Formats: sequence, structure tokens, C-alpha cells
Amino acid sequence: MANAVAPAGPNARQPDVNVTAVLSHLAAMYPDARCALNYTTPFELLVACILSAQCTDKRVNIVTSRLFPRYNRPEHFAGLSPEELAEEIRDCGLYRNKARHIVQLSRILLDQFDGQVPESREELMELPGVGRKTANVVISNAFEQPAIAVDTHVFRVANRIGLADAKDPLKTEQQLMEVIPRSLWSRAHHWLIHHGRTLCSARSPQCHACPIEPYCRYAAEQKTTSPAAPVRPAAKAARKAASGEATAP
Ligand code: SF4
Repeated sequence: MANAVAPAGPNARQPDVNVTAVLSHLAAMYPDARCALNYTTPFELLVACILSAQCTDKRVNIVTSRLFPRYNRPEHFAGLSPEELAEEIRDCGLYRNKARHIVQLSRILLDQFDGQVPESREELMELPGVGRKTANVVISNAFEQPAIAVDTHVFRVANRIGLADAKDPLKTEQQLMEVIPRSLWSRAHHWLIHHGRTLCSARSPQCHACPIEPYCRYAAEQKTTSPAAPVRPAAKAARKAASGEATAP
């Protein structure tokens, strides 16, 4: 198969699914998968990530297309009050908190990091409004460090397929890092997001059209646990009539 994926190292956790096959299919399905947020610098990506909490990437891109031409450096945001910035980002939801965090972290970057976005996950996570997922997105996309940011799509898809078997994002991230070769961490993150946005949606996964289906734990469970189709009353009556059984008046 094109886009052949090498297996992870010998000490990797051994999930029940064929990890190499799953990754190879994802690689073939989403060869151009990349970060959906628009940015030109690590700082713009950091701001876009903060704005993306409980907001679609599409809407964030609309907001940042207005925002970044006027404000796109820590010194620009540090000079704003949270209230002023909140007015600029109202469309993103949770805008008061997001504005406060962006202004605060801009001042911290100027005071402690010479206006630069730190490249370590640990330093990023000390900034206001920056959790592990945002830090992973920034280090993998802006600084090309291997990382798997577990958002709602990655969490759902990875645990459905069986690449992970975890109840929370951190455990999911750790398990994915065990079974996916390090060189593929960042790309696998994008593959899983794209798969979650297209075929493996939260409400109605399109298993019948999914190339992962032969390897997917969720799909296998659906086959074994799906109850027999319920018998509709009309069909029941027709069967009774065909067998000569009396029907109620
Ligand atoms: S088979 Fe279904 S549950 Fe499994 S990855 Fe594909 S769409 Fe998702």
C-alpha cells in the first residue's frame, strides 16, 4: 500500500487493532491533513488556539482574519485592556476569559520571554489559558516537535478504533504515543481530526463507507451487539395472516 507506515518500536503497547494498517489507511485518506487554523507565526497560532476553545476553526479564522492585520504581536495585545480585546473577539464565545488570557500571556511573554513564544510544552502550559492540548498544537505545528494533541475528535476516534482504550485525554495521548511511531505523532493527530470531522462523526459514524472498518473495534462491537431488527406491527400482522393465525378484531 502507498504511504506504508512502519510499526512502532518493540516495547510498544500491543492493542488489539492492526495499528500499522489503520495508520496506513489514514495516511492514504488524508495525505494533505494539516492544522485548520490560519496563522503565520507561533504567536498567531497560540492566539488562534486560545480562541478556538469551544469554537469552530472556521469561525476562529474569520475572527483572526480581522484581528491579525491590526494585532498580531505580544506588544499589540499587551497594550489593550481585556475589555477592548473582548469586543474584537466576541464572535468566538467565552470571549471575556479568552481576552483576559491573551492580554495576560502577552504581557508575560514580553516580561519573561523577550516577546517570543517558548518552545517547551512545560513553559507554554504555565501561560494563562494554555492547557496541554494547546501546548501540543503549538509545539507540533509551529516548532515541528513530535506531539499528539488530543482534542474531542482525536479522543473519540482513537478510542473507537482501539488505538487507545482510555477514559481521559491525557491517558489517550500517552497510549497513542506508545503505539504510533514518534515520527508520525503530529501527522497522526491531523489524520484523526480529519477522520473525526468527515466519516467518524460523534453522532453518526459512517462505518459502511469507512476504509478503517475492517480494523475498527467499534465497528466490530456494533456487529456483535446490534439487536435483530425490530418487527414492525404491519409486518407482524402480515406474517400472522400468511400463517393463517387469527388476528385480533
Ligand atoms: S469504522 Fe466507524 S467507528 Fe470505526 S473509524 Fe470508521 S467511521 Fe469510525
